[in-house]
Amino acid sequence: MDAKETVLPDEPTARGAGTSCLLTVSRGHPLGRHGNVRRPTAAPREAQDRTKYNEKMAFLSVRKMADADFPTRWGHFRILGFEGVVEDPQPCNAALPAPAVRIESAVALVMGDLEGAPPLVRIHSQCLTGDVFHSLRCDCRQQLELALATIAEEGRGILLYENQEGRGIGLMAKLQAYELQDRGLDTIEANLELGYAADCRHFELPAEILKLLGLTSVRLMTNNPEKVEALELAGVRVAERVSAVVPAEPTNEFYLKTKQDKMGHLVG
Ligand SMILES: [Zn+2]
Repeated sequence: MDAKETVLPDEPTARGAGTSCLLTVSRGHPLGRHGNVRRPTAAPREAQDRTKYNEKMAFLSVRKMADADFPTRWGHFRILGFEGVVEDPQPCNAALPAPAVRIESAVALVMGDLEGAPPLVRIHSQCLTGDVFHSLRCDCRQQLELALATIAEEGRGILLYENQEGRGIGLMAKLQAYELQDRGLDTIEANLELGYAADCRHFELPAEILKLLGLTSVRLMTNNPEKVEALELAGVRVAERVSAVVPAEPTNEFYLKTKQDKMGHLVG
């Protein structure tokens, strides 16, 4: 494989994008440098202490693992698989220390020619219950469909699908959070009750993937201003925010209102 390796400085800086099949970014640390010794765990973020996605670039490497043809009901894409290796990941639940190394994966559905004007990009966090089972507890499936339909309509764009179930807390914890929500807690209170931060997601991997695809500027479909901020912080310019608002259902009105009131999500 024609892997490239770039040694990064200690502090994150704007890095040039590569378009090679396999680009490895590295801090120059051998994997497993710290063995099984864990650093002290950090307290989870409070709900009010929003943001601060991507405070520090943590990837040892980001690699494109696969690139294949991908016809869908929305149109013809290519499907690309990416893996990022994070050294010393910060735990999102102080009671559950993070492993020494975490591998983050993401899929990119790419349509059309990405050169020229900034293409439409949607960064979608995995939601098994919504994406697969069409749950009406949340609006994920509708947003996924909106993104794929809009990309198809424009004839170009990228859907980045990140393996961050339940805002990064994982499937089992998300189902436990649902139980707590059934007893009256909102989506953020439930995460906190379980010992997690309100939002455990990171958006460094999507930014690195976009750079690997040669993009430095995108139109981002999101209602979350912090996603815009996180991407820009990671070196990808957001030329335009495109609304991802979908019609509310009686079953998810409270969930959507919580995201607006407590997480700063926009309504248009
Ligand atoms: Zn969902």
